Amino acid sequence: MVKFKLLMAGLAALLLQGTLLSEQLAAAENTTTVAEGVYLFAPGDGYTSMFVVTSDGVVAIEPVNSQHAKGLLDAIGQTTDQPVRYLLHSHNHWDHAGGGQIFRDAGATILAHREAYDWMQANPHRDMVLPDEGWNAKRKDITLGGTTIEMHYVGMSHGLGMTVFRVAEQKVFYVADLVTSNRVLFATVPDFNIKEWMRALSEIEALDFDKAVFSHSNAYTPYGSKDDVTATKEFIQNLQGAIIAEFQKGVNFTQIPNAVELPKYEKWAMYEEWLPLNVWRVMLDMHMGGFPWRPAPDFAD
Ligand SMILES: [Zn+2]
Repeated sequence: MVKFKLLMAGLAALLLQGTLLSEQLAAAENTTTVAEGVYLFAPGDGYTSMFVVTSDGVVAIEPVNSQHAKGLLDAIGQTTDQPVRYLLHSHNHWDHAGGGQIFRDAGATILAHREAYDWMQANPHRDMVLPDEGWNAKRKDITLGGTTIEMHYVGMSHGLGMTVFRVAEQKVFYVADLVTSNRVLFATVPDFNIKEWMRALSEIEALDFDKAVFSHSNAYTPYGSKDDVTATKEFIQNLQGAIIAEFQKGVNFTQIPNAVELPKYEKWAMYEEWLPLNVWRVMLDMHMGGFPWRPAPDFAD
């Protein structure tokens, strides 16, 4: 009996080792080098995170949820022995801002823009923890081991506290939700102010970067460039143009979502499924005025 128990304990240990090993292998497989010290993590759950390794610790961007965050932490452990110093949130939404506890347990300081922080406080979720700091500014930089990660608050656009990131020296950029390469706009385009989104995309185009990592992507390459930002802008402009053209033909507004065609984008993901939904949302924004809207935050308080 004792022998049997020992055998079982040994088997359990072996199985555990096997699981750990396969998790580690999976973490390594899901990691792509973007530039020196800059990596993206895309485990196939539809969400891509990024991490920056410096000689004085690691900065991780976008935990998504606990499962994703565990994978991200494993991927960081596979890449470097440096400790995780910071976890940065892109914006408020539950589907991006979960999993913080995994990084808190690993010793990271969690940051989100104040607008996102306030929303997270008012809208708790079982897998989301409140950040350690809600920074209130147009821009905040973190410099670790000689590497600077810029956080740019791009204002009203999508969600609250929307922040985009630039790793200055490596000229790598990270953005959530505002740009998804090779795909039409997300379903009913939830929580996007179209006019302010266009403004934010222009602000992003003005930043100096060569490579861009997107929280979601339907491209065949793991990361993209500024061209993807411009393509999103052009898609929205083309969509607005097509809506106006249907109005001018005298098409009843209820028929416009099914009438609009943008053959140039036929190959983009979800073209058939979501184009009519995209039209509804953009058309209502043109008809009712931009929404959602809020006053710009006061950075002085
Ligand atoms: Zn979002």
